[in-house]
Amino acid sequence: MITTAAAHDAILAAMPAFDSNTVPVDQATGRILRQSVMAERDQPPFDRVMMDGIAIKFSLFNAGTRKFPIQSTQNAGDERQLLRSGNCIEIMTGASLPEGADCIVPVERITVRDGSAEIEAGYVTEERQFIHARASDHAKGAVLLTPGTRISPMDIAVITSCGLTEVQVARSPVVRVISTGNELVPAGAPIEPHQIRMSNGPAIIAMLGQHGYATSEHDHIKDDLALLKERIATHLDETDLLVLSGGVSMGKADYLPQVLEDLGVKVVFHKVSQRPGKPMWFGIGPTMQAVFALPGNPVSTLVCCRQYVIPALNTASGLSERPPEFAALAQDVTFKPKLTCFLPVKLVSSVGGPVLAMPVHTNTSGDFASLSGTDGYVELAREESNFPTGTAVRLHRW
Ligand code: AMP
Ligand code: MG
Repeated sequence: MITTAAAHDAILAAMPAFDSNTVPVDQATGRILRQSVMAERDQPPFDRVMMDGIAIKFSLFNAGTRKFPIQSTQNAGDERQLLRSGNCIEIMTGASLPEGADCIVPVERITVRDGSAEIEAGYVTEERQFIHARASDHAKGAVLLTPGTRISPMDIAVITSCGLTEVQVARSPVVRVISTGNELVPAGAPIEPHQIRMSNGPAIIAMLGQHGYATSEHDHIKDDLALLKERIATHLDETDLLVLSGGVSMGKADYLPQVLEDLGVKVVFHKVSQRPGKPMWFGIGPTMQAVFALPGNPVSTLVCCRQYVIPALNTASGLSERPPEFAALAQDVTFKPKLTCFLPVKLVSSVGGPVLAMPVHTNTSGDFASLSGTDGYVELAREESNFPTGTAVRLHRW
């Protein structure tokens, strides 16, 4: 049985790299960027006026002039005008600073009478007031985004500001989620007392979608050796990655390890020293398909999906790694088995203090309802049994 760290490393090492494709910018949010984005122009591209008011020459103000004849008006988007000596130009936010002007006085500080603007008595200003200097944010050609960025709404602003209508992103992998089990009945269908609602498949698809992998499909296969072989063979032919739930433990109907190996999926590991999720199985198919067989207990399934499947997809898509996050335990925790414990938590933040992780007790690894409202889970080292309040622990957000 391997450790959680070894399992993580083995998965990432085995994952192929997905290639990239080009998508229109309106479909790019949440996708993983696979190109650099360089500034099309200086930003701002000209000395940008930051206030509605008048544009003047500061040296005249400094020498005592307060009344300036209004020469003209220049709006945002108008061509840059030339300020004649002694005058002012009425100017609007977003306009290009007129040639010869070097100071903006806001409209609230002036009175306009008989074609002149008079600045209020006692007003103090300085050279280049309310001027956002050309290239002061960044220069033309500056690298604004690098490959491996998950594209956010803020990045969409950057991409469009560079004049791009499409970008290169990691290809959406073809993912199939398969629930196995005779006892499972989907929502919407009549159910007998001895049956179980099939909740793992929809939950896994939702989790994948939340992480930007929105196109997964679902299948349900009964615990039948021949049927499993036939259907999983087809799924393997059609996909990059399979997530199976159920059928990997020691039960008589837990056929998956055998079925997968018969189909040419090479086992990388079976069983990880963790709770929940100890029976997890991972292998690589004949054409590099990643195959995750997760134990069916709903808490195990969701923790294993977040802990192993999501990082695998992220790595294959080229997502840049983020630094690990930590939280402080809000309660004493005792965990005796010599296994890494993934403990669901709610986060509580306090002013000036660390982020606190409040453990949420799950009744068993079948108690999925208790996961609602949790923010993620913390990782408790297998070498320890006692984790006092305040212990800094690795946090994994859902
Ligand atoms: P298994 O890993 O197949 O032995 O399943 C362990 C437990 O999880 C059993 O109680 C199953 O009924 C339950 N289970 C398995 N798959 C699902 C699923 N898709 N949705 C909800 N519960 C499941
Ligand atoms: Mg089962």
